[in-house]
Amino acid sequence: MTKYVYTFGGKTAEGNASMKNELGGKGANLAEMCLLKLPVPAGLTITTECCTAYYQNNCQLPAGLMDEVHAGMKNMEAIMGMKYGDPENPLLVSCRSGARKSMPGMMDTVLNIGLCSKTIPGLIKKTNNPRFVYDSYRRLIMMYADVVMEKAEGIEPADGKSIRKQLDDMLDAYKEAKGYKSDTELKAEELQQLAEDFKVRIKEVLGTEFPDDAEAQLEGGIKAVFKSWNGKKAISYRRIEGIPDDWGTAVNVQTMVFGNMGEGSATGVAFTRNPATGDNQFYGEWLINAQGEDVVAGIRTPNPLNDDTKNEQNKHMQSMQELMPETYKELCEVRRILEENYHDMLDIEFTIQDGKLYMLQCRVGKRTGVAALTMALDMLKEGLIDEKEVVMRLTPEQLDELLHPILDAADEKKHTVIAKGLPAGPGGAVGKIALTSEKAKEYRAAKVANILVREETNPEDVEGMRAADGILTARGGMTSHAALVARGWGKCCIVGCDAVKIDLEKGIVKIGDKQFKEGDIISLNGSKGWVYEEPVGMINATENPLFQQFMALVDKYRKMGVRTNADNPEDAQNAVNFGAEGIGLFRIEHMFYGKNSEEPLAKLRNMILANTTEERVAALAELEPYIKNAAKGTLKVLNGKPLTFRLMDPPLHEFVPHTEEKQKALAKERGITFEEIKKRIDALNEVNPMMGLRGVRLGIVYPEITETQFRALFQATAELMTEGFDPHLEIMVPLTINVKELEHQKVIADRVKKEVEAKFGVEINYLYGTMIEIPRATLVADKIASVAQFFSFGTNDLTQMTFGFSRDDVNAIVKDYIEEKIIPADPFNTLDQEGVGQLVNLGVQRGRSQRANLKCGVCGEHGGDPASVRFFYKAGLNYVSCSPFRVPVARLAAAQAAIEEERAK
Ligand code: PEP
Ligand code: MG
Repeated sequence: MTKYVYTFGGKTAEGNASMKNELGGKGANLAEMCLLKLPVPAGLTITTECCTAYYQNNCQLPAGLMDEVHAGMKNMEAIMGMKYGDPENPLLVSCRSGARKSMPGMMDTVLNIGLCSKTIPGLIKKTNNPRFVYDSYRRLIMMYADVVMEKAEGIEPADGKSIRKQLDDMLDAYKEAKGYKSDTELKAEELQQLAEDFKVRIKEVLGTEFPDDAEAQLEGGIKAVFKSWNGKKAISYRRIEGIPDDWGTAVNVQTMVFGNMGEGSATGVAFTRNPATGDNQFYGEWLINAQGEDVVAGIRTPNPLNDDTKNEQNKHMQSMQELMPETYKELCEVRRILEENYHDMLDIEFTIQDGKLYMLQCRVGKRTGVAALTMALDMLKEGLIDEKEVVMRLTPEQLDELLHPILDAADEKKHTVIAKGLPAGPGGAVGKIALTSEKAKEYRAAKVANILVREETNPEDVEGMRAADGILTARGGMTSHAALVARGWGKCCIVGCDAVKIDLEKGIVKIGDKQFKEGDIISLNGSKGWVYEEPVGMINATENPLFQQFMALVDKYRKMGVRTNADNPEDAQNAVNFGAEGIGLFRIEHMFYGKNSEEPLAKLRNMILANTTEERVAALAELEPYIKNAAKGTLKVLNGKPLTFRLMDPPLHEFVPHTEEKQKALAKERGITFEEIKKRIDALNEVNPMMGLRGVRLGIVYPEITETQFRALFQATAELMTEGFDPHLEIMVPLTINVKELEHQKVIADRVKKEVEAKFGVEINYLYGTMIEIPRATLVADKIASVAQFFSFGTNDLTQMTFGFSRDDVNAIVKDYIEEKIIPADPFNTLDQEGVGQLVNLGVQRGRSQRANLKCGVCGEHGGDPASVRFFYKAGLNYVSCSPFRVPVARLAAAQAAIEEERAK
């Protein structure tokens, strides 16, 4: 029989930290903490496999599961010296989710399970604290009704009509009637009355009774946690994070310990280091006389854990360090033991019951990119991790986040801060105010930068948070769900900004003294928690010396080269600063777009619209110096590093005007009739231009076009050589389908090279190679390699031609394909390893079978996608080439691939 239940407690456990797949992150770490002899309330974990079985079984628990649970409960009872459902000495439990990868706040929890008319009197007698018992009872009723009786039953109430909201409103009304400000002012009899009122309302609204039976509550709780795996927010979060639907969640049934037993009790959440900055300080929040949900749900703004956690907002509030110094010391020791065991920063949850400390959770903590960087390098110095581990500690996304803009401090000084909150997520954001997740998604779809402004940090908003460029909330602490999630994504986020007052009905928000409408622009400094009323300028964050230090380690362990796609001196310089080791793709046609393109474009058009070869040759002669200068400028910046120059690729009709007005103007400029111009332009039209007269085909049909380019390139090289530079020219032929094309063009290249060498009296060394971007080329790669000295996989066209998806129109199709799970991801973003990847492998193998030292690279967009970079490393490519801003990310992905390969051995 399958073992579904694993017990932990009493300083021992059946599981351990390595069993995340079976026990989920929470369960595995609870077991580990027991093995580390930390104070953990005894409990049991029901495996993720059981969740899968539950779904396969039409949402029925597997037969015999409850017997296994009962056996586990016996173990808990023995350790804790209490008995579940017992009238005199009742044990209460919590039921919590725990997937393999943490999904903060996305699934449901029920606390205080086991309270019923049979157990309440015993607990009152035992604790001598009726207020605590009825407070726990009303919490159980609220959570159980919400999670088990409504959500798990698939009931979708109208907005504002959920049972949770209704019960919350009753609680608020009760407090208001009594003139109470805080929940803690409610007396025992009042809480008892509230609980009775709640049960009546539940019956009215949901049609069923709240179960007055410990056994029924337990089974209901377990099922509800399984159900919450397929709750709306959990599904959205999985989509975003790429977590597979079939993993399932584990359920942890654990002895309740109480932070709400009075002034000697408390609950808190902490990080073993600062998750926003990475500083080596214990960082956390706590609340006296409260249960954990009060901290994480952002209901009350919590107190700082210690001096290091104090800030402008909370410095007047008392810390645990001040109020409970002994227990605080104990917690610091837990912090030390955990870091030493996990070699990482951990996120912990604890409860103090009547002065006694209990650990309820630990997991590797989410952190910002800056924090990941700082911690990794600190831990290297402290001897906790080695250099390779440092390299593995930053995800490519976190590195990318470091490259993202922050508010320009100089410009910030010119603006006034209108409100301050807690700095929950790093960086800067400037955008239009969105008051709902829907609005944020709408803005995102229209590519409008936006800031989601919300009352509180609600995990239901996960998609809106994703869509927003920044997040600002009125309530919540640094450990609230929104803060955790935003930080995990490296998103700029400010929480607990109580100067924010939202009026959703009117669509307005007051921030401090200022009033804004949805759509007005504000700016956030997420690293400081400051809000500005106008757009503030942004700058980049790569100057950080830690960043340089980290990248030096990355390069130490990286084996595959990283080049860039650039076609002007500025971009090339930028990329070299980011660590590019050369240019893998210089697209000559880019000189005909944008800045300073008018003159060369006019010459190009003369060439395109020429009627005879003579006219075309004459036009090309005028164009040649422009090409030479474009190549020379960038070769000069690259001095000593290779530059792969690609011959002209696009279909020519892309360079002529398409509107009648512009065609008329061109006719006038050239002194010919509009009809004549139109005739010549129409003649260029093709039904499928991407499969038409482009790439090397242009050079075969019009050899004079490539001849001009060869001459310009060799001249640029020769001139630089005579000027004392060290140009490394590589010439690349695009869209090749067979070796004959390469031979045909090479005859021209070699002839022109001799001419230029004679003229300048130099000897030019260059490499002659080809793009591999048509499936046929991969199949005949061995033959092609007999002439080509290098291959560069053009995975944009290779994907286009392999799928038969037009790269320019595919978006509409891909979206549905992904939603319907027909393909896992957009193949133009992340390489289709299953299909296109085979062609890459084949191309490399066949090419090298002919020419062992054939240099292979990739220059399609995939060269900057971390997952694709890992694949290219395994395929044995010598380098990837990507846009300048992605160079550091590609370097990191390449280094990680090398380390992973070594570790797998
Ligand atoms: C490619 O096809 O992958 C490529 C790099 O060339 P382009 O994007 O210019 O077609
Ligand atoms: Mg291409």
